[in-house]
Amino acid sequence: MTPLFTGKIALVTGGSSGIGKATALAFAQQGAKVVVTSRREEEGQNTVHLIKEAGGEALFIKTDVSKSADVQNMVNQTIDHFGALDFAFNNAGISGSFLTPLLSYDESTWDDVIDINLKGVFLSMKYELPHILKTKGAIVNMASTAGLKAGAMGVAYYASKHGVVGMTKAVAFEYATQGVRINAVAPAIIETDMTSDVTVKGTPVYDRILARHPMGRFGQPEEVANAVLFLCSPAASYMTGHILPIDGGFMI
Ligand code: NAD
Repeated sequence: MTPLFTGKIALVTGGSSGIGKATALAFAQQGAKVVVTSRREEEGQNTVHLIKEAGGEALFIKTDVSKSADVQNMVNQTIDHFGALDFAFNNAGISGSFLTPLLSYDESTWDDVIDINLKGVFLSMKYELPHILKTKGAIVNMASTAGLKAGAMGVAYYASKHGVVGMTKAVAFEYATQGVRINAVAPAIIETDMTSDVTVKGTPVYDRILARHPMGRFGQPEEVANAVLFLCSPAASYMTGHILPIDGGFMI
């Protein structure tokens, strides 16, 4: 079968591990040249190495998505190196605390979560979009089921992901007539470093959290990657401003 994205350029933030890494590899398998960005250089270079080893093209750019100068550099280097940008998956994120009620929630943790999860997506879209408008490409933002439904003890994370949902819809609306599509994915629990404390059998929260996933299992990073590629593909040509749960039935 002909690869979906031959000749296209795809950028993935937070591409050094988990869902971002799986998506970078999936874009490359479909023929895209991939820009992998992350704060963690060694792990990001490893994603690039895996892509090149499989015969693909990739570039690592060290980036903290909460810093405007870093994000501008990320996009400038992408254009200098590959000449264009077709797709961006704005995925980088942190969890903050899921054990702390509002009255004890640390202000610096709030700032970190909002700066990375919410402002990071704002900055990424702001600097990617001028180039994606030229290629008539697509953006996929990383929301979460935590952007559609709240829970206790993680106020900054829920706020940040609800913010990503609102921002995705607002920007999709603004640019809907200009040939770009802007959507988000909303995973429930996916087995990555971020969730390693709750996805191990025998931990106190494992059974309680698993019970909220009707399919009776947690998701894999590749299952989110598949949805991101679908949203960038021509098969999703009439979808914009959509928030797509990848959740084993969590939102039913
Ligand atoms: P992960 O910890 O494996 O990946 C997070 C990635 O973001 C890493 O590459 C990390 O280096 C990068 N990152 C963190 N802060 C950064 C910053 N300031 N600048 C640039 N890169 C930064 O975890 P993951 O589960 O793959 O998480 C990826 C995204 O998916 C996050 O936005 C997370 O909120 C979201 N998400 C995860 C789940 C889940 O269950 N794992 C569910 C819903 C949403």
